[in-house]
This record gives sequence, C-alpha cells and structure tokens, in this order.
Amino acid sequence: MSNLSVWEKESFYSTQDVILVGGGLMGLWTAYELKKKNPYLKITILERNTIPLGASTRNAGFACFGSPTEIIHDIEQMGLDTTLEVVKMRYLGIEKIKGHFGMAQMEFDPCGGYECINKDYAHFDQLDEKLAELNEHLKDLTDQDQTFVRRDAAIAEKGMMGFDAMVENSLEGSLHSGKLVSALIQKVQAAGVSILNGMEVVYWEKKPQGIILHTSQQILFTCNQVLFCTNAYGNTLFPDLNITPARGQVIVTSPIEGLKLNGTFHFDEGFYYWRNLGNRILLGGARNADFETEQTTETAVTDLIKNKLTGFLKDHIHPSYQYTIEDHWSGIMGFTENKKPLLSQVSDNVFVAIACNGMGVALTPIMGEKAAELMLLYF
Ligand SMILES: Cc1cc2nc3c(=O)[nH]c(=O)nc-3n(C[C@H](O)[C@H](O)[C@H](O)COP(=O)(O)OP(=O)(O)OC[C@H]3O[C@@H](n4cnc5c(N)ncnc54)[C@H](O)[C@@H]3O)c2cc1C
Repeated sequence: MSNLSVWEKESFYSTQDVILVGGGLMGLWTAYELKKKNPYLKITILERNTIPLGASTRNAGFACFGSPTEIIHDIEQMGLDTTLEVVKMRYLGIEKIKGHFGMAQMEFDPCGGYECINKDYAHFDQLDEKLAELNEHLKDLTDQDQTFVRRDAAIAEKGMMGFDAMVENSLEGSLHSGKLVSALIQKVQAAGVSILNGMEVVYWEKKPQGIILHTSQQILFTCNQVLFCTNAYGNTLFPDLNITPARGQVIVTSPIEGLKLNGTFHFDEGFYYWRNLGNRILLGGARNADFETEQTTETAVTDLIKNKLTGFLKDHIHPSYQYTIEDHWSGIMGFTENKKPLLSQVSDNVFVAIACNGMGVALTPIMGEKAAELMLLYF
C-alpha cells in the first residue's frame, strides 16, 4: 500500500523479529513463550478475523487429556511412546492453563471427565484389564494409581441412559473457551506483543531484507522469522502438508430444570462429546455421520448433523428433562495423517505449528513452548 504514513510504517508495520500468522490458541501461546524467553524480540500476530476464527473460540471447552478408548486406539495407531508423549503434553498443558489463569477468570470447573462405553466396543470384555494397563502407563505422569476408574452407577445418577459402562477421570475439567482466549490475548499484549486483526496473509517470499508477507489488505510485512499457526487453513499456504480440515458442529440446549448432568463426557472414541454449561447441555460431534461433507473449512451448520445430535440427546438424556435447542455453531479443526500435532521448519526461518487434531485447548500451551524453543535456535 503506497499511502501509509511514516508513523504507521515505523510502528505498526515496522520490520519484526517474529511474525505469527493466526491468532488462535497456538499463535497466542507461542507469542507468549517467545516473549518470556526473549523479552527484547519485536513480535506481531497477524489474524485475519476480528477475533480468532477457526477452532479456539468455537470448541467445547473440555480441559481433557484423553479418554480411554481414544488412547487405546491411538496406541494401536501411533504406538505407545508417541501416544504417551501426546497425552503428557495435554496433561501438562491443562496444568499450565490452571497455573496462568484463575479458576473464575476462565470459569474452570474441575468437574471430571467421563467416557461412556457400550458393549459393541471391540475391547469391552477386556475393559478392566485395558484400564489397568492405561493406569500403569499414566501413573508417573498423573501421580495417581488409578487415573481411570469404572463408575457405571454414575450413568443413571447423572441423568443419562443407554450406555453400558462409564469410566471417570477426576483430573479433567471444563472451561469457558471465550474467556480463556480473551484472558490469553490480554496476557500476550501485556507482554508487549502487537496483535493486528483483519490482516490475511496470502503468500510469503524471501528477500535479502527478510521474509516478506503479502496480505489481502495490500500491506506488506517484513520479518526475520515467521510461524504459521493457521491450523485447518494451512493447506492454502502449504498444500504439501496435507492437513485435513474437519468441521465440528455443536448444539446447546435451553436451561434444564433439575439437571443432574455435570462433567465432560465422551462417547464413540470422541465422536460425541457433551458437558453441562451451568444448567444447559452442550453437545458436539457426529462428524462420522457425514465424514466427506464435514471435511471442509466452511464454517456452516447442517440439518443432518443437528438432527443426529438432537437424536443422541433424546436417546441418552433422561426423558423427564424438558428443553429446546437454543444455539448451533461450527468450528474447524485440523488433522494430520498420524494424529500428531505438526511443528516443523518448512524453509529457512519459516515454521509451522498446526493441527492439534481436536485437542488444542490442552495441547497448545506446550506446543507453544516447543515452537518457541525451535525458533530461538535459529536466532
Ligand atoms: C467444535 C470443536 C470442539 C472442540 N473441542 C475441544 C475441546 O473441548 N478441547 C480441546 O482441547 N480442543 C477442542 N477442540 C480443538 C481446539 O479448539 C483446537 O485444537 C485449537 O483451538 C487449535 O488452535 P489453533 O490456534 O491451532 O487454531 P485456530 O483456533 O483455528 O486458529 C487459527 C487462526 O488462524 C487464522 N488464519 C488462518 N489463515 C490465516 C491467514 N492466511 N492469515 C491470517 N490469519 C489466518 C484463523 O482466522 C484462525 O483464527 C475443538 C475444536 C472444534 C472445532
């Protein structure tokens, strides 16, 4: 843009040590970690929307580190060591969030996490043995002999039905995703990071003076290093990374009188997840009912998924509860082929930290540390 003022060029748009593209949880935690490790760095986050718009303010607000059937599935797919590494990052991520923000500030509720399981689950007959194995693997991390405990009787106590077993993890909880992102933005800005909203990076190139970022707003940015935290939208700039977008739709009921359900709940390897929001129920998922359509970056909602979710509530929530569906939205997750979040240097001084595979609330605090460590090696 030719008519920028000298003031603008020498402040907001001046050359930066680091630019982070994408102002969701990943960009925010990484900016915070970079500043913590080197307070002299000039850092700007470029976010294309008014507020971060992808997954960070559209998720379910579960502070969870992994339900048993999901961990068992991941061990089969990724191997034990990689799975435990990711579970550890999530566990430490939740601890870090609790260390940074007051419980009230982000409405953190240590309500516990639960997985509901039915007899058609492949390992149902060996469930207790599988839980004992998992507990052994997690003992050193959680400092608990039994991270996972069978609590089948609590299905009815919590006003639910239609499940054969339930497993409790009392170390998990829920939080308010909007308040978490808002508090983190304030923390990052207080540390001296500049956040520019309404700036969409469309391509980048290397020049002798540094990396040049071109935006749809026709403003050019120059920096020494750039980290792309563009999650599901990473394919536009880096098609070779093969990030699969996955839309997650969520519904919320009206307040329900006498609601007994409290906690965060998973079913079907995490394809359904629900929690109480005060005396309302938030329920998300059912992506597996329409896989192909839901592999999209379009933030839209569909009747098919809404009907699936509404049907799930009818099947599993006590029929005495009266409610209507008051809210329905979607957010976009990014998945890698091996389900491991991706942190990589794609070119000299150009990095990506993307694809938390649907667990970024817990993962991004630690991914941010790792990204900052990697980038600082090259300063
Ligand atoms: C419905 C749903 C439920 C979920 N539930 C949970 C949960 O309960 N617990 C949990 O741990 N995780 C959950 N997740 C996953 C979690 O929200 C994400 O893993 C996490 O928010 C990812 O953060 P991010 O910063 O990597 O991505 P995002 O939050 O998607 O941020 C990426 C940002 O990049 C910006 N951007 C993209 N391209 C550009 C560009 N070219 N220029 C500038 N800016 C750009 C976007 O606008 C966006 O703000 C859920 C996700 C969804 C969708």
